[in-house]
Amino acid sequence: MNTLLPTSTAGSLPKPSWLAQPETLWSPWKLEGEELVEGRRDALRLSLDDQRHAGIDIVSDGEQTRQHFVTTFIEHLDGVDFQDRRTVKIRDRYEASVPTVVGAVTRPKSVFVDDAKFLRQYTKQPIKWALPGPMTMIDTLYDDHYKSREKLAWEFAKILNQEARELEAVGVDIIQFDEPAFNVFFDEVNDWGVAALEKAIEGLKCETAVHICYGYGIKANTDWKKTLGSEWRQYEEAFPKLQKSNIDIVSLECHNSQVPMDLIELIRGKKVMVGAIDVANDAIETPEAVADTLRKALRFVDADKLYPSTNCGMAPLARRVARGKLEALSAGAEMIRRELTV
Ligand SMILES: [Zn+2]
Repeated sequence: MNTLLPTSTAGSLPKPSWLAQPETLWSPWKLEGEELVEGRRDALRLSLDDQRHAGIDIVSDGEQTRQHFVTTFIEHLDGVDFQDRRTVKIRDRYEASVPTVVGAVTRPKSVFVDDAKFLRQYTKQPIKWALPGPMTMIDTLYDDHYKSREKLAWEFAKILNQEARELEAVGVDIIQFDEPAFNVFFDEVNDWGVAALEKAIEGLKCETAVHICYGYGIKANTDWKKTLGSEWRQYEEAFPKLQKSNIDIVSLECHNSQVPMDLIELIRGKKVMVGAIDVANDAIETPEAVADTLRKALRFVDADKLYPSTNCGMAPLARRVARGKLEALSAGAEMIRRELTV
């Protein structure tokens, strides 16, 4: 990236109301068959247009072609039975009915590669594509086959690597792995979580990112945040290992959160996608508020490594709100660019 402080989003953007129920997370599709295929692509183009209009530098598909950031990927794999459902606790936080791993997991064909190719046709800007991380994937399943979280994560890492290599081949510039589970299972992160992530990026020449957040603004997450006290130090657990890893970019939640900004020092040398937009409320940030968060982050990350971003995905927000937040992000980043170049 030649742009100073290139802006991007951490993940999803809201879907149009004709495609899925608005302001709802993991909302079911409103279309079927061919109409759904075409509708998702139309939504992808609109989402790209919103990002461009707001002046976002690194664009994405806005996750318009997926219902859930983990499940949609898993639906395309063999070895997982979606009829055989068990109740598990996701990230030790909330119970959910999840599919069961019943045999060896494999990826019979690519999952998002056609969509990435489609997006590539419509823009010359850098593209970032999000995939679930191995540890977050195993946390949304019941494993009745490998009976080992580490083994299953390793198998997923190999599958993710196949997908990532194909995404790179069709012109994706940054591949991001979403690992909110890194904020919960600290021992596992250090024992094998970061290693599994490195397996997933093995051999890639494009840039790679890991997104670690405190989740969407849903009740289970906001209730959990209330239990975390006045300082959220979760990042402290994974950062030393990540600093030594081959990952290029670390995407973090920093705005309106209790994360002490100085924790970023622990990943010195990495590029940091600093979340400067709160996705858990409807209030549109002022450019000044965005700039303030970026300014604080600049004490711990070099300017050429700071990537202004959102705390997490914006799928559950109203489209008007998400657009406003994208514009605030651009305007806030521009304020800091000017400060840095005078
Ligand atoms: Zn997130």
